[in-house]
Amino acid sequence: MKPPAAILPEPLFQRAVGFLRELTSISSDSGDPAGLRRAAGHLAAALRERGLATEIRDETPDADSTPLPVLYARGPDTARGHLLLIGHLDTVLPAMEPQIEGDRLVATGAIDMKGGLAAFVGALDLLRDRGQQPPADLLLVVVPDEEGGGALSQAAVRRWGETARALWVLEPGEPAGDAETIVAGRRGMFEWRLDVRGQAAHSGLHYWDGRSALAAAARWVAEAEALSRRDGGPTINAGRFVGGDTTFVDDLSHAYSLLGTDRQLNVVPDRAIVEGETRFLRPGESQELQRRLETLARDVAVATGTEISFAASLFIPPVDPRGPHGGVCRRAAALAAKRGWRLEIEEERGGISFPNFLPDPGRIPVLDGLGPVGGGMHTREEHVELRSLRRRIVLLADLLAEART
Ligand SMILES: [Zn+2]
Repeated sequence: MKPPAAILPEPLFQRAVGFLRELTSISSDSGDPAGLRRAAGHLAAALRERGLATEIRDETPDADSTPLPVLYARGPDTARGHLLLIGHLDTVLPAMEPQIEGDRLVATGAIDMKGGLAAFVGALDLLRDRGQQPPADLLLVVVPDEEGGGALSQAAVRRWGETARALWVLEPGEPAGDAETIVAGRRGMFEWRLDVRGQAAHSGLHYWDGRSALAAAARWVAEAEALSRRDGGPTINAGRFVGGDTTFVDDLSHAYSLLGTDRQLNVVPDRAIVEGETRFLRPGESQELQRRLETLARDVAVATGTEISFAASLFIPPVDPRGPHGGVCRRAAALAAKRGWRLEIEEERGGISFPNFLPDPGRIPVLDGLGPVGGGMHTREEHVELRSLRRRIVLLADLLAEART
């Protein structure tokens, strides 16, 4: 096996570390348009120097929002479609001075995700050093609002994902002992709301005339959550539950003062609202789960003599690890193995991210979690492992060299 320096010459690696230090020292938290503009300008200059055409456009998700800079960097031929790479420049915290501590760079956004952007810049240097070119149809879109709201991030993936032949995401992988991970699957979700109406009655005098909306909703929640399955199965989470008599539930902002008192405890509660979400990994599960939750609402209504309505909304599709992503992830793992390290495939990463917003996540291969690993994300201890940065630069260069059409 070649020593690391032969795979990635030390001066190139030091240049990438230097670039990451510069980029992480520019403060660019989600609420700082001027800082985001400075960071985008600095990254654009580095990409131009390495042969890509760059453009920074001020964009707004809607009329009331502040314009924020979106950076586009293109290869020479993106007219007929593209290999889409996506990254974000915003961080949760404002920047502090980056510090090298042993084999780590401690810096704001070191892994989430300026590290991924620096790995890409380093990969361009490495390709040039080898006399290779990146794919001519490469399109890198760097968004400014992933950590806050994400409207521009979602719009970018929707728009540029439409004509992409593949999507690569520069978010960090995870450390796994001596190995590291890449992400093949992400859960999708939908949100739902359950509305229950029963019959109020005095619980002392007319208990059996009452029909408790609260008890019906509780029964629905218990049975709904029992549909959750470990190891890749769906999960159902009731996030909020309000029950009581109608005046309590419908005027909660005032009526909460009843909590802790004995007022109205003698009323069979005729009103309940439950709100929650359902997450799943397989594209077909969305409709199936919706149908089961609706059926359950009908069954509980009949059994309890209440009226129940169930409504689902905000459907976000999953990235199924059994989709076209499996092949490219295995290829990435093979390329890593050739360079002497182990890349494992994460079948399901929690949390909604860029690939979930593709028009159809099952249409194109997605390589997610390409960025270097570390720890302390979103804290003052955020750091990137320099060993991982080295690995990811080489991996990205190997993948880019292969992705030429
Ligand atoms: Zn991120």
